[in-house]
Amino acid sequence: MKLSHRISLFSTFFLLILLLLVNMSIYFVFESQTTNAELNRAVSRAHTIVEAIRPTGMESHNPSEMLQAYVPGDGMVRVIRENGRPIVSVTKELHLNDIETMYTNQEQMEKANFDGSYYAVVRTPVIWSDGSIVTLEVYEPMVFYEEAVSTLQIILIVASLLIIVPSFFAGRALSRFILQPIKALVATMNEIREQGTFKKIEVREQSKDELDQMGISFNHMIDLLKKNFERQQQFVSDASHELKTPLTVIESYARLLKRWGMQKPDVLEEAVEAIFSESQRMKEMTNQMLALATDDSAAHSNVSPVELKKIVEETAHKLEVAFQRDINVQSQWERLVVQGDEGKLKQLLFILLENGLKYSDEKLDVVLAEKGESVEIAVKDYGVGIPDEDIPRVFERFFRVDKARSRKTGGSGLGLAIAKGIVDVHMGDIRVESLEGVGSTFFVTLPKGEGG
Ligand code: ADP
Repeated sequence: MKLSHRISLFSTFFLLILLLLVNMSIYFVFESQTTNAELNRAVSRAHTIVEAIRPTGMESHNPSEMLQAYVPGDGMVRVIRENGRPIVSVTKELHLNDIETMYTNQEQMEKANFDGSYYAVVRTPVIWSDGSIVTLEVYEPMVFYEEAVSTLQIILIVASLLIIVPSFFAGRALSRFILQPIKALVATMNEIREQGTFKKIEVREQSKDELDQMGISFNHMIDLLKKNFERQQQFVSDASHELKTPLTVIESYARLLKRWGMQKPDVLEEAVEAIFSESQRMKEMTNQMLALATDDSAAHSNVSPVELKKIVEETAHKLEVAFQRDINVQSQWERLVVQGDEGKLKQLLFILLENGLKYSDEKLDVVLAEKGESVEIAVKDYGVGIPDEDIPRVFERFFRVDKARSRKTGGSGLGLAIAKGIVDVHMGDIRVESLEGVGSTFFVTLPKGEGG
């Protein structure tokens, strides 16, 4: 069953139950009050008759005759002996005489139904003219009761219909209104699934209601998926393009080897050397690609307080030994603590310091400083620098300022992209200031950790 039908059926059913309860309460209260009023009327008539027929000792007193004056129209008055036989029965409706008699020496009142009509019946003991105790029975037709109750029934049924029918249609209209954006969403999702394209739904951006918010969130999600998909495609095409060059080099040297290599030792040596260095480069590149793929997810970060000065000095020392160059680390503070993944922060420092060494021939300066709630690392080199127009692009994947220059240094254009990924995971910021021929400074800001 469709959701819209379910909503309208449920709300109508609920309303029906509510109306039934309310109507029944109204009906029963009204019915019992009207019955009581009718019974009280019959009781007071019975008392009047009892007063009238009470023995007075006067000779002319004939109770049977007096009863004629008190019999209600369409009703009946009877006097019943102890043995159940009626002494007298006064009525214009003869069929009422068929009602069974009942003797009682206590006052009783009840509502009785006879031939489809209701009567208020009152029985009360009286002393008859011969001194015996008899029962006076008064049958008073409940005309007002019957009319009032049937009018009330009609009013309640009409009022219920007037509520139920419009509310059923209102419920349907409301559920259609609510479900319309959901239907649009489902249709768009189906279209995306069938056509394999990213599509957004139309929403009123200003609206505050939850359904439009849902649409806006959906569109944001689609944007994100599209961006990720495009990035992934770009990455795959860039990666395959980058891997093609070393593979082509390896292939052509291998071919050369096959033809001449065995006879000419100089060719053999050159080919083996080239194949070795290209395969090294490929290995490095694939490692970097792997790092880049994992850096995107912060979930795997192993976060703890990291002593920044300590890891900067350690990394600098390792690179000093490897490159046989000077790296000068300066810090006013002995302890600078950031919250982060030590392994990844070391990798970040390694990339920046190695770049500084690769693209310059002099010493490197690393300055650590506290800036409000953050810690800043500046890696300064005095080398080739980066042209102004390339500065915004250096953090892109596979971007290299001068491909020939990077090839010589073995760069893949992935280092700074990895560095940016690491900084992003740590909620930090990375930027570069550079002048061609003068040098470059990379600034990394990281939020301070506890105890920093
Ligand atoms: P690569 O592996 O090629 O060094 P990176 O992503 O680390 O890749 O750097 C991207 C490009 O930015 C490099 O190819 C290089 O041209 C330029 N670059 C990075 N660091 C420096 C630096 N310290 N001085 C000059 N150029 C740099």
